[in-house]
Amino acid sequence: MKKRPLGQNFLIDEEVADEIVASAGISKDDCVVEIGPGKGVLTHRLAEQAGRLIAIEIDPKLFGPIKKEFASQEHVEFILADALKFDFGSLPHPFKVVSNLPYYAATHILKRLITYRAHIQDMTLMLQKEVVDRFSAEPDSKEYGSLTVYLQYHCDVERVLEVGKNAFLPAPKVDSSVVKITPLEKPRVQTLDEKIFFKVVHAAFFHKRKMLKNNFKLWHKQFKKEKDHTFLADIDLSRRGETLSLQEFADLADFLYHSNEEFEK
Ligand code: SAM
Repeated sequence: MKKRPLGQNFLIDEEVADEIVASAGISKDDCVVEIGPGKGVLTHRLAEQAGRLIAIEIDPKLFGPIKKEFASQEHVEFILADALKFDFGSLPHPFKVVSNLPYYAATHILKRLITYRAHIQDMTLMLQKEVVDRFSAEPDSKEYGSLTVYLQYHCDVERVLEVGKNAFLPAPKVDSSVVKITPLEKPRVQTLDEKIFFKVVHAAFFHKRKMLKNNFKLWHKQFKKEKDHTFLADIDLSRRGETLSLQEFADLADFLYHSNEEFEK
């Protein structure tokens, strides 16, 4: 089969397209950014409902025809660019994002969008089901990982719709889900130093199957031993990273923040 490096699986199910756009809840007051308009199945619906639509497409072969098709619609603009590199801060804001994301780059594009969260009202996105499973995972499940923590720290995540492979042409290998992601005004948990928080999160999941005491070796000087157990900030390090809640990650980070201060004295 022909290789499709740009994740070009086009949505052909009109009902799914209607549902995606309906769940984005768009009005004439909204500026909407679409990533990867492709052949325009979402673009047409978005153009009808939004006050302004800006669509970013990487492939010149798709960009040319769609730009031409919408030439008479002044509130619709197309930008030929790579969403992985695009400066979303240069767009008028606030804006809503609606996209059937190219799956090869979906998590990277989403992480990039989250860095622009102050400009974004919400994002209605379709991506691989197993990635969405990770976004909405609870502690103690195999899907729970550093991506889950990153997303839930910054955003509310609501699952909207499940979509089978046959809704696309060509059909991808995996099923898809639509998710609505809304950036929070303040992170979900408070922590004294975000850098330490994410350092702890990445360390905790570095070897997913290992106990925290192995993943946290960097901080062994701050470990406390009691009977047969080792603790850091009252957290038993025989646990695994996937069992920690966001609040427990924040507790660990704040403990390390304070103990680093002591070490530096
Ligand atoms: N919106 C269309 C639909 O629903 O049928 C197309 C969706 S298709 C899954 C992904 C689209 O994103 C394609 O048009 C592809 O060319 C475009 N694309 C792929 N990588 C991109 C990138 N890095 N930046 C912007 N667009 C990209």
